[in-house]
Amino acid sequence: MSIADNLRQVQRDIADCAAQCGRSASDVRLLAVSKTKPLADLESAYAAGQRLFGENYVQEAVEKYQALSHLSDIEWHFIGPIQSNKSRQIAETMDWVHTIDREKIARRLSEQRPTELPPLNVLIQVNISGETSKSGIELSDLEGVVALVKSLPNLSLRGLMAIPAPQTDMALQREVYAPLQQAFLTLQKNDPMVDTLSIGMSGDLAAAIASGSTMVRVGTAIFGARQYT
Ligand SMILES: *Cc1c(COP(=O)(O)O)cnc(C)c1O
Repeated sequence: MSIADNLRQVQRDIADCAAQCGRSASDVRLLAVSKTKPLADLESAYAAGQRLFGENYVQEAVEKYQALSHLSDIEWHFIGPIQSNKSRQIAETMDWVHTIDREKIARRLSEQRPTELPPLNVLIQVNISGETSKSGIELSDLEGVVALVKSLPNLSLRGLMAIPAPQTDMALQREVYAPLQQAFLTLQKNDPMVDTLSIGMSGDLAAAIASGSTMVRVGTAIFGARQYT
């Protein structure tokens, strides 16, 4: 199967999942997670119509951003953990960051965002799997982090993101997503700019879409298995 075939299949899966829960396929954007994959794979996906790409490692993200700068309608999403000494490179290149979970990083990204660029679109990462994850804020801390992010001039708060612990049972996947979906709906009610719930990967698309996902992050199902992660 080619990358173009895989992309079509994932789009069909998204459309099927959306139809099953009475949603429109166009409400769920597909982020192609291209970490560790060569430029040629991103170019194949681009040629097949894909425009949103997600990367986890700063150096790799910046190299790909530079190498593909002629494809100016690519939307670059940073979805990995952020060390403060790398925040400037992210602020200068990326369109979106999904992994805001510390005040220090949020402040640096806002300060370092070049003023000639539009505000950096950001999602607050929420830890919905308790002990099994070290990344993400607790839902109980969400209100404070939302207030902070909204106070920063060069960030635009677009929503929430989560990476649940892997789990194969769909009912349990949905149970883990339920409090996050509730928090997202509340946030959205209070802020018309909030439109993005980034949940769902190759292994839990159906549960994520049933839980209100507006952006699924898919790597393996598009590009095949990774050599390293
Ligand atoms: C790697 C990764 C993905 C994609 O995972 P697949 O299982 O390959 O679809 C999605 N989100 C994040 C944050 C990732 O790091």
